Amino acid sequence: MTFTGSGDGQSGSMRAHFVLVPMLAQGHTIPMTDMARLLAEHGAHVSFITTPVNATRLAGFAADVEAAGLAVRLVELHFPSAEFGLPDGCENLDMIQSTDLLPDFMDANAALQEPVKAYLHEQQRSPPSCIISDLIHWWTGDIARELGIPRLTFSGFCGFSSLIRYITFHNNVFENVKDENELITITGFPTPLELTKAKCPGNLSIPGMEQIRKKFLEEELRSDGEVINSFQELETLYIESFEQTTKKKVWAIGPMCLCHRDNNTMAARGNKTSMGEAQYLQWLDSMKPGSVVFVSFGSLACTTPQQLVELGLGLEASRKPFIWVIKAGAKLPEVKEWLADEFEERVKNRGMVIRGWAPQLMILRHQAVGGFVTHCGWNSTIEGICAGVPMITWPHFGEQFWNQKLMVDVLKIGVEVGVKGVTQWGSEKQEVMVTITRDEVEKAVNTLMDEGGGCRRDEGESKRLNH
Ligand code: UDP
Repeated sequence: MTFTGSGDGQSGSMRAHFVLVPMLAQGHTIPMTDMARLLAEHGAHVSFITTPVNATRLAGFAADVEAAGLAVRLVELHFPSAEFGLPDGCENLDMIQSTDLLPDFMDANAALQEPVKAYLHEQQRSPPSCIISDLIHWWTGDIARELGIPRLTFSGFCGFSSLIRYITFHNNVFENVKDENELITITGFPTPLELTKAKCPGNLSIPGMEQIRKKFLEEELRSDGEVINSFQELETLYIESFEQTTKKKVWAIGPMCLCHRDNNTMAARGNKTSMGEAQYLQWLDSMKPGSVVFVSFGSLACTTPQQLVELGLGLEASRKPFIWVIKAGAKLPEVKEWLADEFEERVKNRGMVIRGWAPQLMILRHQAVGGFVTHCGWNSTIEGICAGVPMITWPHFGEQFWNQKLMVDVLKIGVEVGVKGVTQWGSEKQEVMVTITRDEVEKAVNTLMDEGGGCRRDEGESKRLNH
């Protein structure tokens, strides 16, 4: 098989050939599809490693790059779910029923080592020049060494959170901390920083993940550099400090979402959307510029049913137009009935509830959107920054609490809704107390939209972004 795509017209062997190995989770795969597009637009060949279920989700991306004549190839490899005790077809983090299965899922990923190696050895006409793989894919280090090419890591974190992760993980800062809520001073960070163990990424400390964590940290030390989806001007101090601390080259190549210049490619990003893009656009076009608040908590966050209802009631009380994206929670009987029987009818003139996947980037860039209630995943954060919308920060888990600090304390582009505790993914069925009341939601939304929204950009700029 040879690469298609005209690119810059160089012959196969002359072009750089990047091999991208994303983590099989939407928040990690999506930015890597943008990375693939950008590399190919600069004339490189790209092999994008994926699996059958994930390739189906990437169909829109594959069609787009093909239509653009870009030399990106999806390399679809069998994912050994059953061999590792996972349900058949369980090939993405959002399909895992419980975090207990995470080590098996990661081991199944590592079993891709031989097929990836075999594929790369076959590429005689366009030998690979560089692997860029998710930090978690420690097993790509061996492949790069065998082929004599560099391996760069990509974690999906911004510079600020990458630096915190590097310092706290490599120095085991939280290892002997007994009280999860004790504030620990982080030394080696360029600005004063105190963190609690509770609000740090926790998945890597669940039983069975210790070895995987050890291996990926060892391989990070052996890697040839780090790639981040951020830009120097946004967080200069932290990116420079990350480079000094790791003693490795850091490429800040973001914001990668800016590679999208039209609604079609934005709507094809990630999973299939639950409605046609025209329906969203029609609704948004009917709203005043800067008047709509967009509420979305990424691809994994599991907000509890009680909290979802409270959030909805707060949105209703704010009297602001809104688009609210609900994932797994919308299927829980208590939420499903409440939405269909009461809520949607009451807000039908100014509220749109999306169950499932939304074309987030397209919505955020629409001139009608004036504020964003976000879980502070880094992709969502940088997409909000690029759209020029102020944000309400509602972190759930992982490094989201760190990103909140960057947004609120350093960049001053967000206001906290006031989340006190962590809501791990995979836990929406647990009985968890409501932490943010409807009154707090109403107050935060009104402050955001009355004081921050509606002035996101001048009309001329909106037109440029939307066309
Ligand atoms: N996303 C989307 N539609 C959705 C949910 C998420 O397009 O309904 C995209 C979003 O634009 C972002 C990514 O999925 O690019 C989520 O990544 P993020 O880092 O924000 O959060 P995660 O899902 O990793 O928690």
